[in-house]
Amino acid sequence: MFRNFKMVPRVIFGRGCFAQTDEILAPRRNTPDDWAVFVLDDVFAGTPLESRIPLHDNDLVLYVDVTDEPKTQVVDQLTRKVKIARPTLPCAIVGIGGGSTMDLAKAISLMLTNEGSSTQYQGWDLIQNPAVYHAAVPTLSGTGAEVSRTTVLTGPEKKLGINSDYTVFDQVILDPELTAGVPEDQHFYTGMDCYIHCVESLAGTYLNEFSKAYGEKSLALCRQVFLDRHPDAADKLMMASFFGGMSIAYSQVGACHALSYGLSYLLGIHHGVGCCITFDALEEYYPDGVKEFRIMMEKTGVDIPRNVVKDLSDKDMDTMITVALGLDPLWENCLGKDWKTIMTRDKARSLFLKM
Ligand code: NAD
Ligand code: ZN
Repeated sequence: MFRNFKMVPRVIFGRGCFAQTDEILAPRRNTPDDWAVFVLDDVFAGTPLESRIPLHDNDLVLYVDVTDEPKTQVVDQLTRKVKIARPTLPCAIVGIGGGSTMDLAKAISLMLTNEGSSTQYQGWDLIQNPAVYHAAVPTLSGTGAEVSRTTVLTGPEKKLGINSDYTVFDQVILDPELTAGVPEDQHFYTGMDCYIHCVESLAGTYLNEFSKAYGEKSLALCRQVFLDRHPDAADKLMMASFFGGMSIAYSQVGACHALSYGLSYLLGIHHGVGCCITFDALEEYYPDGVKEFRIMMEKTGVDIPRNVVKDLSDKDMDTMITVALGLDPLWENCLGKDWKTIMTRDKARSLFLKM
């Protein structure tokens, strides 16, 4: 069976295109009561970007703190806040920020029209009703969250996305100017998330011409950004992120993402930096990719945290291994159908001990 892939239907790209946001949302505002919610990374509170948000009288700005990656509990709280703010549902939810903020915007738009807690929908195609119209304005490039059909959430029992066709954004606004203030280390970590998406997709057993076409272009753009230090790096990384997301959407990520999920579940390590820590230990599986990653790291002058698992108890290490090995499709993509005979618990432990 081939997957009938749902794509983002509308994309605007270009320096300064954020200025067209009001015009883009206009068709949603059909009555004077229609109102929009802007989910804004609170790093932008009091900045010129905040003042450029095209707010109408009834609109709401929902400031979100992304110190911790999105949790189901936070999604439920934010959804409640929107529900009680006005008597009607909003006509649009617009997420402005990095992967965490975009994922929160996706999750809120889904939970406004689906009963209960977001924990009930962590998994594949559990969502029953279409979401409220939702748009993304990335301010940090790399995760591909702007194109994916998932919103990654940490719940009380698992870190797992709400994967569904309804999760996909209705509109993406790609304005490379908005990434100007990203700190250098964050730029590298989230950029490497994109690079690793491509390496894992292109080396995987699930690879097909669709994923390859997007993955190869994205990888070439990442090289221009992190090896050539191209002057148009912001534009290039924004497109690399989009294409990297498209590549894994029709294939899968691999060993690095599986192991890094374990790290972030147990230690709360953020996705980008967790992927970097993990990838550095995976020379055996992605030799060329890891070699090039280290050159990029050296050129950027950013380092990664080391010895991160040293204080973990045996019990925590066991949990981490269980979380990582629970991601069957990622392992199958990396190692093939017999992956369980290759990636044993002992092997996974030895890899974690290198991090
Ligand atoms: P992030 O959104 O967590 O942000 C990282 C930091 O950068 C934050 O401190 C944020 O405030 C700051 N920041 C963002 N834009 C900025 C700007 N323009 N200027 C200054 N600071 C800025 O980071 P991320 O790496 O983009 O996202 C990671 C999250 O994305 C994780 O929660 C991960 O699970 C999720 N993710 C989702 C998908 C998906 O398909 N849905 C894919 C990969 C990762
Ligand atoms: Zn990733």
